[in-house]
Amino acid sequence: ERERLGRRAQEPALTTDGHRIAVKANLASVAEAAQAAAAGAEGSGLVRTEVLFGDRTQAPSVADQVAAFEAIAEALPGRGITIRTWDVGGDKPLPFHPQPEEANPFLGVRGIRSFREDPTLLVDQLEAVCRVARHHPVRVMFPMVTTVEEVDWALARLDEASHRLADGRPDALQVGIMVEVPAAALRAEALTTVLDFVSIGSNDLTQYTLAAERGSPFLDGIADAADPAVLRLVRETCEEVADGVQVCVCGDAAGDPDLALLLVGLGVRELSATTASVPAVKDVLRRHGLTDLEDLADRAVHADSAADVRDLVRRFRAGES
Ligand code: PEP
Ligand code: MG
Repeated sequence: ERERLGRRAQEPALTTDGHRIAVKANLASVAEAAQAAAAGAEGSGLVRTEVLFGDRTQAPSVADQVAAFEAIAEALPGRGITIRTWDVGGDKPLPFHPQPEEANPFLGVRGIRSFREDPTLLVDQLEAVCRVARHHPVRVMFPMVTTVEEVDWALARLDEASHRLADGRPDALQVGIMVEVPAAALRAEALTTVLDFVSIGSNDLTQYTLAAERGSPFLDGIADAADPAVLRLVRETCEEVADGVQVCVCGDAAGDPDLALLLVGLGVRELSATTASVPAVKDVLRRHGLTDLEDLADRAVHADSAADVRDLVRRFRAGES
């Protein structure tokens, strides 16, 4: 089975009716980038910078960040990488950016919110992104965005960073946000009027939709991205984004073949997950037509529970050749 998947690893994932779905890998190191390329990842839909530099006690310099991002881009030549700005807080400490004590850290100073008081670290990172984007296909995205005002604020920080460069912001740099908060899914149009793409963080979107902390051992079965409520927010995002804005998913749901089928049926055209899941996700997409996946997704959003959704997909897939 491994061998069979391996042979077609570098081929794109086309549905049986000819729609191309990009399948990429989530990365947190340079070593992983080389493995992702070998596994057939068509770039990276998520570089977790807070993990990439998570072992530092001091903030990395702009030059350090440029070197790391370039090394990742070079391991995936021409395929494109998506650099997520520092995603701090909740379950993710960053030694060189201490967090305040909060009663509910997941609802507190997380992601983009962590830099409102002092944006220095963020602007330095954006400068590194701009420098790398001169020579490589790069996208940048901001985590935990909730309001239109935050989009404007983040774009202003990107302007600030690009003003440090003689030639300004590279034309080829694409800019997006993560959709991890239900408010962002519901207001996708207003949030994306000046953006190139959004990437749904299904791990956090699931947690916030179902008010069920990710990783909690006590809530098994509640925090499931297959829940019809989560699927409806994915559909809402796909339907609401401004014209020409691409919708990707980079949470774990993208690497689950059953959920990948649903996400594509809902309108997602790019999936990014662990390197190990790339061959199987490409393989399952090649077995179905988009029209059938759209029908399946339509039934899934009307199902009663995550368990029913998973049953539905299992029965659908039982006919796979
Ligand atoms: C997500 O929330 O789905 C996501 C991809 O971001 P992270 O898992 O790093 O929070
Ligand atoms: Mg997240």
